[in-house]
Amino acid sequence: MSWLPPDDEDDDAFGFDESDVRIRPNPKGTRPRTKTRPDHGDAVVGRVLSVDRGRYTVMADEDGAEERVITTTRARELRREAIVTGDRVDVVGDTTGEEGTLARIVRIRPRTTLLRRSADDTDQVERVIVANADQLMIVIAAADPEPRARLVDRYLVAAYDAGIAPLIVVTKTDLADPGPFLANFAALDVPVVRSARGAWPLAELAPILDGHTTVAVGHSGVGKSTLVNALVPGTDRAVGVVNAVTGRGRHTSSSTVSLRVPTGGWIIDTPGVRSFGLGHIDPANVLRAFTDLAEVAADCPRGCTHLADAPDCALDEAVASGRLRADRVDDFRRLLSSLAG
Ligand code: GDP
Ligand code: ZN
Repeated sequence: MSWLPPDDEDDDAFGFDESDVRIRPNPKGTRPRTKTRPDHGDAVVGRVLSVDRGRYTVMADEDGAEERVITTTRARELRREAIVTGDRVDVVGDTTGEEGTLARIVRIRPRTTLLRRSADDTDQVERVIVANADQLMIVIAAADPEPRARLVDRYLVAAYDAGIAPLIVVTKTDLADPGPFLANFAALDVPVVRSARGAWPLAELAPILDGHTTVAVGHSGVGKSTLVNALVPGTDRAVGVVNAVTGRGRHTSSSTVSLRVPTGGWIIDTPGVRSFGLGHIDPANVLRAFTDLAEVAADCPRGCTHLADAPDCALDEAVASGRLRADRVDDFRRLLSSLAG
């Protein structure tokens, strides 16, 4: 059974998992801590594995002799901060992780990356999804549901904006040939992995995931949970059984959780969504996700908007000469106008 958002307002899809704190757009993605805080010299450092109703599951002493999972809450002074899956945090109090204990997060360590989305393209208010991921695994189905290039474009824009390296995993290649769809992205330097029922690309993905924190995103129904279950056996994401890493707690696919891949690395699974708003992104940065178009646009007149009505836009000439596909330029322009409008 696949998890579906309660309605078209899939903003709710993230439920308790994204922060209940809404933050204003910030180009840097992180905010410097300025207020003086008590010095918690005895704090332990941990990785936030999951967030559920004000409780943060944190792994401490990762890969060490005392590796353990601690249930925490956040300290009062952090109540206006978004703490998300992937965050590195300082924890104080009873950090034994023993049954019934509740420790306290007192600090969020500076983030290397921050994956964000907005409800829609006109909404400047962003939601933080995941911190400190260095790879974005875009999961798309060859069929059922039909792949949409424009959703992939959006993920790519978000990835480049956040400084996260994207890769594309095409599922259900047993149902359809993804070749024509993938042609949209052929000119990009983005790795593509194909996946099919009974032929999960575990060996191919293992070296890609090892040593990295990879956040998996995709439209609901593409088979993301199925793939994650194959990558991290024992974690039934679809039905929300006990978590493979923590050995406790109930994590359904409606929440964002970090899972340790047995062959190395972490995969952060996110709930399936129907849309991925980019209202927080500067339209000037969209071209970064269209490197094939960016090369051509380098020849545009200064200040070119690259929109359909832009005079002498080099993209038009490239379409006319057959250097660029018209639908690719259309997708780019549609996304650009959506953000600008
Ligand atoms: P999610 O919403 O992305 O997590 O999707 P699920 O993992 O729940 O999968 C949705 C449906 O697609 C399920 O019925 C799966 O059995 C099916 N499915 C997943 N992967 C494949 C695949 O590679 N091939 C085929 N034919 N079906 C698949
Ligand atoms: Zn142009």
